[in-house]
Amino acid sequence: MTRLTIENLSAGYGGFAVLRDLSLDVSPGLTVIVGPNGAGKTTLLKAIAGLIPRGGRLLLDGTPVAPDASTSELVRRGVALVAEGRQLFPQMSVTENLELGGWLVPAAERAYRLKQAFADFPKLAERAAQLAGTMSGGEQQMVAVARAMMCAPTLLMLDEPSLGLAPRMVDELLAIARRIADAGTTVLMVEQNVRKALAVADRAHVLERGRLVAGGPADELARSAVIRQAYLGAP
Ligand code: ATP
Repeated sequence: MTRLTIENLSAGYGGFAVLRDLSLDVSPGLTVIVGPNGAGKTTLLKAIAGLIPRGGRLLLDGTPVAPDASTSELVRRGVALVAEGRQLFPQMSVTENLELGGWLVPAAERAYRLKQAFADFPKLAERAAQLAGTMSGGEQQMVAVARAMMCAPTLLMLDEPSLGLAPRMVDELLAIARRIADAGTTVLMVEQNVRKALAVADRAHVLERGRLVAGGPADELARSAVIRQAYLGAP
């Protein structure tokens, strides 16, 4: 049950700071980050995953992550990111995409993990040989999540898993995130579908212009007047 501690994080692009002095405790369970376009939600996940340079400190279960830790070091420490847009290999089968997700795992264990992935995602088992590029958006998102789980992460980050999906698939993807959190992997998710995300999450934080402006138990936030007006369309 991994806990991520973010202390005074800063990150941006070139000389442009998107996040400044951001501190956040991500407890076990399912945490969602919501906020308007351009607030820095994706930047936050990328900085944690080591995809862009960052300042400040990250600690996993109290142990600091080296400031210059590469993405592969972070994967070894149990951190996985499913980026927006999924980034599957479209000309490869579901099985091949999943196997690539387990690149850091010894071959024998990889076979076991693949079996486990198909047990966890029976819909993918039915389509093991299908080329990823020919699957529906929701199915592709499922492959992307299953691929990230091949490294048995302790912290799984999901960037807008429901983007562009039909309502039923949104529900299915959010239910998958909930199931993964319940099975013991800490999940940190960015989601634009605020109403549905607050309904499945344990905790929620609101990021606006690079700053966290509200946070707490997801059900409390869902009831708060500010959130209801800004994000849930309440009058
Ligand atoms: P969205 O919901 O639209 O994806 P977001 O909250 O995830 O928004 P980010 O993608 O983190 O926001 O972007 C935060 C800011 O950083 C924006 O002003 C954006 O234009 C800028 N930005 C993002 N990626 C880059 C990049 N590669 N180079 C320069 N600026 C960037």
